[in-house]
Amino acid sequence: MDKPIETLRVVLGDQVSRRIAALSDLDPCRDVVLMAEVMQECRYVPHHVKKIVLVLSAMRHFARALAARGVRVRYVRLDDPDNAQSLRGEVQRAVAALKPRQVVATEPGEYRVLDDMRGWAAGIEIRRDTRFVCPIADFRRWAAGRSSLRMEFFYRDMRRRTGLLMTPDGEPEGGRWNFDAENRKRLPPGQRIPAPMRFEPDAITAAVVDLVRQRFTNGFGEIDGFNFPVTAHQAEAALADFIAHRLPGFGDWQDAMQRDQPNLFHAVISPALNIGLLDPLAVCQAVEAAWRAGRVALNAAEGFIRQIIGWREYVRGIYWLRMPEYGTLNALGAERPLPEFYWSGKTGMACIAQVVGQTRRDAYAHHIQRLMVTGNFALLAGLHPDAVDEWYLSVYADAYQWVEMPNTRGMALFADGGVLGSKPYAASGAYINRMSDYCRGCAYDVKQAVGANACPFNFLYWDFIARHADRLASNPRMTMPLRNWDRMPADRRAAIRARAAAFLAELEAGSPAAAAPCSRA
Ligand SMILES: Cc1cc2nc3c(=O)[nH]c(=O)nc-3n(C[C@H](O)[C@H](O)[C@H](O)COP(=O)(O)OP(=O)(O)OC[C@H]3O[C@@H](n4cnc5c(N)ncnc54)[C@H](O)[C@@H]3O)c2cc1C
Ligand code: SF4
Repeated sequence: MDKPIETLRVVLGDQVSRRIAALSDLDPCRDVVLMAEVMQECRYVPHHVKKIVLVLSAMRHFARALAARGVRVRYVRLDDPDNAQSLRGEVQRAVAALKPRQVVATEPGEYRVLDDMRGWAAGIEIRRDTRFVCPIADFRRWAAGRSSLRMEFFYRDMRRRTGLLMTPDGEPEGGRWNFDAENRKRLPPGQRIPAPMRFEPDAITAAVVDLVRQRFTNGFGEIDGFNFPVTAHQAEAALADFIAHRLPGFGDWQDAMQRDQPNLFHAVISPALNIGLLDPLAVCQAVEAAWRAGRVALNAAEGFIRQIIGWREYVRGIYWLRMPEYGTLNALGAERPLPEFYWSGKTGMACIAQVVGQTRRDAYAHHIQRLMVTGNFALLAGLHPDAVDEWYLSVYADAYQWVEMPNTRGMALFADGGVLGSKPYAASGAYINRMSDYCRGCAYDVKQAVGANACPFNFLYWDFIARHADRLASNPRMTMPLRNWDRMPADRRAAIRARAAAFLAELEAGSPAAAAPCSRA
C-alpha cells in the first residue's frame, strides 16, 4: 500500500452488499476496505457449521468482486497467523498498519457488536444501515405514545410508504390488508412440491468447507451438502426460482408441515437476505410484479410481502427500540434448562425429531416449524428464554440477534409479556396434527392427554394454561381455553397436571424417559 489511505471502510460478514452505507462514497484510489474472519464472531454462540461456511464464503466472494473492480481490500482470513481473532483487534491492527484519516463502518445487526464498535477507533463514523425499509428513527416515531405496538398497524403504514399492493387511490389491492384466513390450508396428499435451487460449492466455498471442518470439529450440524447461494447473482437466481415455482403455493400452504419436506413452498431466502445478498424492497417488488402479471394469486403475494415489510421490519424495530432490556425479559418466569434433544434430535416426539433433524442437516426450518414445534414446546415446558434464545441464534443459517430475539423471546415464548404478540402462541398436539403428518407414526398418541403414551404437547398445553391462569385471565383472547380448563372434571385436571409434572421432572433430570414414551411406566 504505497499511497496514503484516506478512509478505512469496515464491512462485516452480514453486510456483503455493494449498497452497504460504509461503501456509499468509496474512493477506490484512496480507501481500503477491511474484512476480517474472526473467531470471536464464529464462536460467540455454537453456530451451525453451515452458517459459518455461508458467511465466510459470502465474505470471500464479495472481497473478490470488490478487488476485481479495483478496490483495495485488506482481507484477513481465519487462519492468518497474525489474526487478532476479534473485530476490534483487526480494526486496530489495520489502523496501525495503514494510518487512515478516518474509519467508517455501518451499524451492525446486534446490540453486542454496536456497543463494541463504538470503541474500535477514535472518531469512528458509524453509519445507519440503509438496507431496511423502515429506518430505526421512523420506527421509534411510530411507536412513540402508542399503547399497543401490533404488527398489523405497522404493516399498513409500510404498505402505504412503499406503495406495494396499493391501488392508485391509496387503498389495499383486493380491498383487504390481510388474506391470512386463506393461508392456513393443510397440504393435500400427493401435492407436488418443487425443490429449491441448489448451489454447488465452487473452489472458494470448498476451501471454506475444509477450513470449517478443521477448525470446528465439534460444531453443531452437518457440513455436507452445503448449497446456499453465496453471491448476489446466485441469490437473485434463487429468488427468481422461488417466484416461478413455489410462490404460487406459498399463500395456501404457508402454515403446513410435512415429514421429510423441509422447504415446502417457502422461499428459503432469509440466509441470503440477512447478509445483504438480496435487497428486501426489491424482493417485494419482484413478488408484486408476479402478481400484477397474473402469475400468482393475491393471497400468496400479500402473505409473502407481509413477512418482509411487515414482520421482518417490525421485529427489527422492536429489537432496537427495546434493547438491551429486551434480552433479559422473562415474563412467564420460565426457568428450565434446554433439553439435550434440541441439539441431538433424539426424542420420541416425532415432530421435534423431524424439525431438529432437519435443522441439524440444513440449518433451516420454516416459520411454523420454528414457532409451533420447537418454540411451542419451549413455551409449554417453561424453558428459560436465555437458553432458547441461544439455541435459535446458533442453529439457523439466517440467525442474527435483531431478527432472532424478538421472534424467540416475543413471538414464541411470550417472555416480553405481550409487546409483540397479543397472546402466547400456545397450542396442543391437535394443531400439529392438523397442519402436518408428523403425528402419524409418532410413538405418542395425539388424541390422548393423559396416560403413558399421551402426546406431551397435550398435557403440557393444559398444564401451561393452569400454571399461568392468573396472568392469562385478563387477556380476552385466552378466555376460551381458560373456560375449557375450568370446565374439565377435577379428576381429569389432576391427572393431566400429574402427568405434566412427571414429564417435566424427567425432562429436567435429562432422563431418557422424556425422550421416548415406551420407557415410561
Ligand atoms: C422462534 C423463531 C426464531 C426465528 N429466528 C429467525 C432468525 O434468526 N432469522 C430470520 O431471518 N428469521 C427468523 N424467524 C422468522 C422466520 O421463521 C424465518 O424468517 C423464515 O423461516 C425464513 O425462511 P424463508 O426464507 O423460507 O421464509 P418465508 O416463509 O419464505 O418468508 C419470506 C421472508 O419473510 C421474512 N420473514 C418471515 N417471517 C418472519 C418473521 N417472523 N420475522 C422476520 N422475518 C420474517 C424472512 O426474511 C423470510 O425470508 C424466526 C421465527 C421464529 C418463530
Ligand atoms: S403426537 Fe404429539 S409429540 Fe407426536 S408428533 Fe404429534 S404433536 Fe408431536
